[in-house]
Amino acid sequence: MAYDHRDIEKKAQEKWAGLNLYSADLSDESKEHYYLLTEFPYPSGDLHIGHWYAFAVTDIYARMLRMRGKNVLFPIGFDAFGLPAENAAMKHGLDPKDWTYKNMERMRGQLASMGASFDWSKEVVTCDPSYYQWTQWLFVKLFEHGLAERREAPVKWCPKDQTVLANEQVVDGCCERCGTPVEEKRLTQWFLKITDYAERLLKGLDALPWREEIKEAQRAWIGKSEGAKIKFSLQLAGGSEQELQTASSNLQAVEVFTTRPDTVFGATYVVLAPEHVLVSSLLPAVSNKKEVEAYVSATVKKTERERSEN
Ligand SMILES: [Zn+2]
Repeated sequence: MAYDHRDIEKKAQEKWAGLNLYSADLSDESKEHYYLLTEFPYPSGDLHIGHWYAFAVTDIYARMLRMRGKNVLFPIGFDAFGLPAENAAMKHGLDPKDWTYKNMERMRGQLASMGASFDWSKEVVTCDPSYYQWTQWLFVKLFEHGLAERREAPVKWCPKDQTVLANEQVVDGCCERCGTPVEEKRLTQWFLKITDYAERLLKGLDALPWREEIKEAQRAWIGKSEGAKIKFSLQLAGGSEQELQTASSNLQAVEVFTTRPDTVFGATYVVLAPEHVLVSSLLPAVSNKKEVEAYVSATVKKTERERSEN
């Protein structure tokens, strides 16, 4: 008789499901608790081998911990917000919600057929009100404590899709979705003041048993740096004081931040970011206006990281 894996696996999986083997009883204090989290998949509609590449190792680990007598919380869910759902819905003429929920249903079946030992009783779906009521609650708390603020800031904008793009969605100065050259716009946006916690975040990192390069990337993201602010006063070549006054709208200096103030004596020039307010106000007074405009439109499309690369 041939080994019918479809039949045997189905029977075994149904039995496991019936035994409720993987749902963690959080009130059970008799065993040591262990929280094991894997990245939740995006509900794109089909699992691929890359998903299982990530889940298999944590699944093996979860099983080992259970066998060692730990009370293991190994949840699963779907990270279900974002542009891909919007794009797919537009492409197929579907409601983004229908598309997303249908995909999740299919992926639940796929995950179950792989025999993963996830605790489905604690599943979270980030586009569901039962989940995002908590992200909203969190936001309100941050707001109440003065940690969420609104201000104007430059953003990458696709004029065709009429949407703001994340830095990661800008590919060679063009929109990842439609290939249109990206523009920069000043929009009012929300900011969370994680800078208030920079010191604590950095301290917390030291104790973590992570690889040094991962910690270094985190430190760069936290973005704390020590240095000095230096003011370079402005002088308009060949222009009168009066002209400068008008052109620079009373801004008489450019302030820069540097981690190496000791090297200031070697400074030969200062470059303004294309979105700096002085650029547009000084433009009428510069002689090589065309070149400056070309530089501005080329640089404005670059992400901050790309700009610092050159
Ligand atoms: Zn676009």
